[in-house]
Amino acid sequence: YVIPGQRVVEGHQNYIMAYNMITGIRVAVSRCSWLPSPVKEEDFSNVTKLIFDMEGNSLTPGTKYEFKFKDYAPEVFRRLRTRFGIDQADYLLSLTEKVSLNELGSPGKSGSFFYYSRDYKFIIKTIHHSEHRQLRKVLKQYYEYVEKNPNTFISQFYGLHRLKMYTRKGIIKVHFIVMNNLFPPHRAMNLTYDLKGSTHGRRTDIEKAKAAGKTSIIAKDLNFLELKDKISLGPIKKKPIIEQIAKDVKLLQQLNIMDYSLLIGVHDLRKSQEEDPDNLMANFDPPPIHPHSHPPLSPPNELETEIPEPTQGEQNQDQDPSSNPPQNTTPTPTSKHPHPHPHAQHQPKQQVQLQQTQQTTTSTTTTNPCFIEPDGGIRATDANNQDQPLVYYMGIIDSLTNYSTFKRCETLLRCLKDKRETISAIPAYDYGERFYKFMDKIIVSKTQEELNRTKY
Ligand code: ATP
Ligand code: CA
Ligand code: CA
Repeated sequence: YVIPGQRVVEGHQNYIMAYNMITGIRVAVSRCSWLPSPVKEEDFSNVTKLIFDMEGNSLTPGTKYEFKFKDYAPEVFRRLRTRFGIDQADYLLSLTEKVSLNELGSPGKSGSFFYYSRDYKFIIKTIHHSEHRQLRKVLKQYYEYVEKNPNTFISQFYGLHRLKMYTRKGIIKVHFIVMNNLFPPHRAMNLTYDLKGSTHGRRTDIEKAKAAGKTSIIAKDLNFLELKDKISLGPIKKKPIIEQIAKDVKLLQQLNIMDYSLLIGVHDLRKSQEEDPDNLMANFDPPPIHPHSHPPLSPPNELETEIPEPTQGEQNQDQDPSSNPPQNTTPTPTSKHPHPHPHAQHQPKQQVQLQQTQQTTTSTTTTNPCFIEPDGGIRATDANNQDQPLVYYMGIIDSLTNYSTFKRCETLLRCLKDKRETISAIPAYDYGERFYKFMDKIIVSKTQEELNRTKY
């Protein structure tokens, strides 16, 4: 499948795929129970199959294109969404209004496609069949882990699906996941790091990328080291964060997973002040979050399409603007109010009245360490735990690669040439150890001088 970087509009070669993905999600998610119930053993292996065609039937609406859609372990993902504080109605609305093709430039080696939901909260990533198998295999352990560790940094998986389409070239099967976007819509990241703790080939030519006019530059381990950068967290914040990373790494080691990264977006409050003289960030307080008042970072390319109404589930979604909750006020790290989940996007949502589910939808919000802001950001602090004008958005991404035979071969081949510690394809246990050690080393508070030196 060719990966294009253009708009996904009618006529685009991925238009039908994107259209079918969101149609499938829309119908499948509407069919999930709205009342969160305890997950049963059989829910992990359960697969719902839906057949879409022009005529439609009692389960699916008539659609423009014929395709088959599989929803894996729908009740497990439904429960995971609840655990991560994602409201069922919001999820449906965000994903199925319009989908946009991402602007990450040329995709990674894996050849995955990334799509943002219209509101920039969710990411759809197409995955390799082996990653799909991996997630199914470890779903129960992942689920149990999340139940105990709702503040995990590991990607939040909200859905696992498969699309089967008939094209001129034959039958195409596309596996994909829905996950959290670590970055909020209201803030630009001044620099993003994708860190693995390895050095082999881990450099982005930042100057070249800038010269090419790239807006979202993903720097890597060597860039981080060369810039003499640090993740500035004083002892009070570092402790719980590094402990959570240690636990997350331990799980990934047990699951035989490697090749993941810590993705860190840095937002420099000084810079946003410079760029926006009207902005009221005196004392570097984070700005209030108004989800709809700022455009997404890179204006998404709209998939302009009408999505057919499903036959059941959400006909009752009448938007009632008068029921919008009051806009959130400036979050402060010391706020005593329980925050929603840290690593998901939780700007105040448009409330959707669901007559059908009004009494039954309960939102299990997880209690959130008070230093994590409602949008998932972590304010930098110095050695005395005083706030600094940087905010970090971070999480462990790309965590579905099993240390497979392929990787084993790669390790053997590369070991002939390079020192073992510097390469990334090493067994899951070693990978995790190296990853953790690196993160432990780079999370150190910055001095005032260092802070002045590194402006992002
Ligand atoms: P490869 O295997 O070559 O590393 P991939 O196709 O598996 O590539 P990822 O590593 O998952 O891709 O992600 C590539 C980039 O997409 C990341 O560096 C990051 O910029 C962005 N990205 C991925 N997941 C997220 C997320 N959850 N939130 C925000 N950005 C993300
Ligand atoms: Ca990756
Ligand atoms: Ca990958």
